[in-house]
Amino acid sequence: MKKLMVGNWKMNGSLDANASLIGALQQDASTWHCDVAVCAPSVYLAQLHTLLAGGRIALGAQDLSAHEGGAYTGEVSAAMLKDFGVRYCIVGHSERRQYHQESDADVAVKAQRALAAGITPIVCVGETLAQREAGQTEEAVKRQLAAVVHTNGHCISEIVLAYEPVWAIGTGKTATPEEAQHVHHVLRAQLQAASQHADRVHILYGGSMNAANAASLLAQPDIDGGLIGGAALQASAFLSMIAAAH
Ligand code: PEP
Repeated sequence: MKKLMVGNWKMNGSLDANASLIGALQQDASTWHCDVAVCAPSVYLAQLHTLLAGGRIALGAQDLSAHEGGAYTGEVSAAMLKDFGVRYCIVGHSERRQYHQESDADVAVKAQRALAAGITPIVCVGETLAQREAGQTEEAVKRQLAAVVHTNGHCISEIVLAYEPVWAIGTGKTATPEEAQHVHHVLRAQLQAASQHADRVHILYGGSMNAANAASLLAQPDIDGGLIGGAALQASAFLSMIAAAH
């Protein structure tokens, strides 16, 4: 399957910085063998919708409301994202689970809202350091995915899944390729039990992926791409990871 490399800009960027980063990435686009997307803060989606028009980079958002519309001050609905050409939306990033108390059930409903609007949810799962040290990695990620499977039924083959060990996000610590592959394999088996189309689901790795470690992670059989935070903000680093994805 063609790999998918996604940049998660988190709460970074400005009109000027976005334009120069996209400009630098697009110069190289004719050489890419993988699909590429950037997930930007909501206020910049309109700018990026214009900047990315007709190009190879797909537009992504970082979160969406669990509600369809109405009296939910500050929230952005799936339909609104769709209006701006959003193709992917991250749901259940560990920063949202941790700082905004998103539950497994919230994440499952957000994935459902995205799918209903024709947006591919990038569903994030991952264990904390305490869970890893207690030998509970598989149990933690399986519980998180089970909620999304339960709510989305046979549509589960339409999601993108991202395994992001919480202890590896923004810390400079990365799961070894073998550790990551093991969890990806567990997640693939869980998807296969839920859908006969599970083999088409991209399972991305995220957590301090960078230009130096991308190739060995991407060489694993069940690692179908990357979800990249810090290193996706530098054109040269993101481009070398994209080059490693073929
Ligand atoms: C992320 O935010 O999804 C992520 C993986 O961040 P980083 O690459 O900075 O660890």
